[in-house]
Amino acid sequence: MPFPWGPSLMRRMYRSWSGPIRKTAPPLLGSLTRYLMLSTQRRISDFNSFVVRTNTCGELRSSHLGQEVTLCGWVQYRRQSLFLILRDFHGLIQVVIPQDESAASVKKLLCEAPIESVVQVTGTVISRPPGQQNPKMPTGEIEIEVKTAELLNSCKKLPFEIKDFMKKTEALRMKYRYLDLRSSQMQYNLRLRSQMVMKMREYLCNLHGFVDIETPTLFKKTPGGAKEFVVPSREPGKFYSLPQSPQQFKQLLMVGGFDRYFQVARCYRDEGSKPERQPEFTQVDIEMSFVDQAGIQKLIEGLLQYSWPKDKNPLTVPFPSMTYTEALDLYGTDKPDTRFGMKKYLKSKDFEVIKKFAVNHFNQEVSPLFLKTSGSGKSPFTKLLKEEEKTALISLMGAQEEDVLLLTAGEHKKACSVLGKLRLECADLLEARGVVLRDPTVFHFLWVVEFPLFLPKEEDPTELESAHHPFTAPHPSDIHLLYTEPEKVRSQHYDLVLNGSEIGGGSIRIHNAEQQQYVLETVLKEDVKLLSHLLQALDFGAPPHGGIALGLDRLVCLVTGVPSIRDVIAFPKSFRGHDLMSNAPDYVSPEDIEPYHIQVRRPEVTDRKDVKSVICETESSQQLVLPSLAKTENPLEKLALGQTPELLERRKSSKYPDNQ
Ligand code: ASP
Repeated sequence: MPFPWGPSLMRRMYRSWSGPIRKTAPPLLGSLTRYLMLSTQRRISDFNSFVVRTNTCGELRSSHLGQEVTLCGWVQYRRQSLFLILRDFHGLIQVVIPQDESAASVKKLLCEAPIESVVQVTGTVISRPPGQQNPKMPTGEIEIEVKTAELLNSCKKLPFEIKDFMKKTEALRMKYRYLDLRSSQMQYNLRLRSQMVMKMREYLCNLHGFVDIETPTLFKKTPGGAKEFVVPSREPGKFYSLPQSPQQFKQLLMVGGFDRYFQVARCYRDEGSKPERQPEFTQVDIEMSFVDQAGIQKLIEGLLQYSWPKDKNPLTVPFPSMTYTEALDLYGTDKPDTRFGMKKYLKSKDFEVIKKFAVNHFNQEVSPLFLKTSGSGKSPFTKLLKEEEKTALISLMGAQEEDVLLLTAGEHKKACSVLGKLRLECADLLEARGVVLRDPTVFHFLWVVEFPLFLPKEEDPTELESAHHPFTAPHPSDIHLLYTEPEKVRSQHYDLVLNGSEIGGGSIRIHNAEQQQYVLETVLKEDVKLLSHLLQALDFGAPPHGGIALGLDRLVCLVTGVPSIRDVIAFPKSFRGHDLMSNAPDYVSPEDIEPYHIQVRRPEVTDRKDVKSVICETESSQQLVLPSLAKTENPLEKLALGQTPELLERRKSSKYPDNQ
């Protein structure tokens, strides 16, 4: 079944997208259309089974001429009381409003139904008169001569129009998410996500014998890793934790003989307000027994190839691989964007920006070295270098005439990461001038391998923490160092990077209880009692095993080319972790709290901080508020609606709303 929107409409749609603007050229969403179209064609999904409609609005063509059809959809718009455009997820169709006396009631209904009301029409598919076809509309050759119509439900005045070219703030989109979901962009994103997940399940279960197993989301606190949400229990002082991943359970499933497990798993991390993070997110979580790193990598390459949208260039496997040390040395990060190398074209004023950036963000001096025709380099920094050192540097870097090297000195990791950030900063500068370096329609996968097993803790560098998690196995050639110089041990941890974003990570696990206990107790100084169940399980014939988790939200975000992971999640949380639609998290009554033996210090309703956070999350939605709300006399609502001088002032001076 063909999809209704042509590339030009899709392009318009993309232009009107109101999320944060990407710095690179947007992908053509027409390609998404083709992917969805192709896959539905192949599988011949029946969109009309079990329901009152006979067809979707978007599927009708000249081949349906003469057929009597029943359609259900939302009123998109009307043209001069003559035509009504009906919309469903599949597209738009023109319904001719009857003008003769005998159909007066149908005419009245179709002329008076407010925009976005949901209606059902029955009629005949007819040709549009010559000259009235609309080639831009996939259903543009035909229209519906309506016989009967029913108003299924009327729509009140909307907070925003459901038109792709209507700009709407993110806060407003979130508040009325169910309306935002009607947009063709959101329909695409979530349907594409569903199709990719379906293909992944097919690949894992049907082609490779994996078992989809659900694991608990009420669990207990685990050592290391991200901060977890706690859930009170009815036992005094005892709390559950929401798992940051099903890590322990999937390892225990290996002990239980489910040697190929996967789950599309909801995970939770209480990481506060971080851009492009969600407190709850989805992983495609995988674990296998009797496997090595190469086996997991091959599995994931096959999985992505199989579930990759068919209209995009097929993925080439194996994906390139780079060690953690190489990535840090060459790109200054463990998630390099390999779509671009080190580009030139910088102007001299850019170097001031670059130098300032390094000082402001990292308190680090950076000095550019300009390579001259003579092969010599000019830089304040080179005064410190002997001539032969300069030559050696130039040859080491493979630098050529007109190249610029950015030099810095200092602690290795810090210096590398400053230069890595500057590389991205340079890309921003160049892209602002129209040099496209990071084409979002190009997909560069990269394995980063051989991470260190432990890293010095940021807050106390004399102590170590796991680079991945405490269950990761040491590199076989470094096991001897575990007991002497643990900081030098490489691990069997691998990350999958796509276009500079980490989209997956995993490891081969420790399956020896003694080694696991040593790592937890002696190296990481964790309380092993918290993990006694796992340590015990490893002692009962645990098979060697390993696994990985793919971040589904990020992956789909990159595949669809949308600006934010919130655009591929049906009901995402705001930057502050709030659901702006339902107002979660919310207060509960003292009676509801009573069974949990906890005390809550409840803020006063007039608590300024509390009110301010409401303002922050809604302030960008002020241009378009429901008239009934806008008239409120309630002072708190007034504040939230941005009608106070204080807020007006703040809005003028604030650069970013709370939706980054
Ligand atoms: N549980 C790990 C994570 O969430 C992934 C893995 O090691 O399989 O990052």
